[in-house]
Amino acid sequence: MIGAAITGHGGVEQIQVLSLPEPVPGPSDVVVQVAYAALNRADLLIRQGLTGPGVRRPRQLPHVLGVDGAGTVVATGAQVGDAIRVGDRVAVFPASSCEVCQYCRRGLTSSCAQYTLIGEEEPGLQQQLFAVPARSVVRLPDSLSLLDAAAVPAAYTTAWTVVVTTGAVRPGERVLVVGGGGGVAIAAMQLAAHSGAQVWTTTRSEEKAARLRELPFVDRVFSPAAPGWSAAVLDATDGEGVDVVVDSVGAPTWRDSIRVLAPGGRLVVCGATGGDVPDISIRELYQGNRRLLGAPFGGWNDFRDVFAFLGRSEVRPVIDRVLPLERVRDAHRALEAQEQVGKIVLDLGTGSGPGHTAS
Ligand SMILES: [Zn+2]
Repeated sequence: MIGAAITGHGGVEQIQVLSLPEPVPGPSDVVVQVAYAALNRADLLIRQGLTGPGVRRPRQLPHVLGVDGAGTVVATGAQVGDAIRVGDRVAVFPASSCEVCQYCRRGLTSSCAQYTLIGEEEPGLQQQLFAVPARSVVRLPDSLSLLDAAAVPAAYTTAWTVVVTTGAVRPGERVLVVGGGGGVAIAAMQLAAHSGAQVWTTTRSEEKAARLRELPFVDRVFSPAAPGWSAAVLDATDGEGVDVVVDSVGAPTWRDSIRVLAPGGRLVVCGATGGDVPDISIRELYQGNRRLLGAPFGGWNDFRDVFAFLGRSEVRPVIDRVLPLERVRDAHRALEAQEQVGKIVLDLGTGSGPGHTAS
């Protein structure tokens, strides 16, 4: 079997499609034949060898990339009960944790001191066969294809935390998602619209603005989002501002993000792709009764809830493009250039086995 791995840190030339040993499942593991694996910004950061607070690096090289994946169970360990069986279509929860601390018991997995992410410290899902504890997979709703499911774990679990668990977006609220093209941003817009909110977004690219305007869950696009875009947003609200801003960009956008918040508004932070040391006025934050909420990747509860939600709703991930595993370098280039609207997904080439498409 093959997989996409980095052999060192740096540019896309560090990525190789390698022949890998087949995994041997432990007694409580299942082996998933991965059909599709979506890319995340984490893939770029790990490849580049980023260091800093909250950044995790692979334990060893070569390191198989991939936080997101979905596929079919092809083997189960001796102690795996009947909850997961061979032939089940599943998605993999991309984190592991101690399972016994107060946070794990409450499903707040990402707050566990022993929390690690598949594809970061541990080998990832961009390989054709992947062994994982049975408790870390969720069986897919029949209506959800493996392709759609592969785009869900990181982006939609984070968006679920942003919009539902932490952001608590209510019907009728105005929600502004900064930098509209990324996977988490798109997911947050979909979920916010589904919650009955009015959804606005910003982008620096006119070409991307045109594509964002075509999305049925986007009410308004502010572009170009040069520094100072807050003035345009405030104009559009007669100076009132918006109830929620979702910001995953960080340093370059925080000043505007805080300014557009109505009194009592919430800035929900789920990333810092543009830098993590913002130049802001703390007075602007507290004097407007504005609240700052951190929303990292969600826990098992969010992951489970988002798949249950997709099973009973018409919401489906926005997929920008699907590329064969062999073109993983092109996938990185596209993500790095921020060309995409939605998720970039790799097809692992494991064929059209049972349940490959939704029923
Ligand atoms: Zn724990």
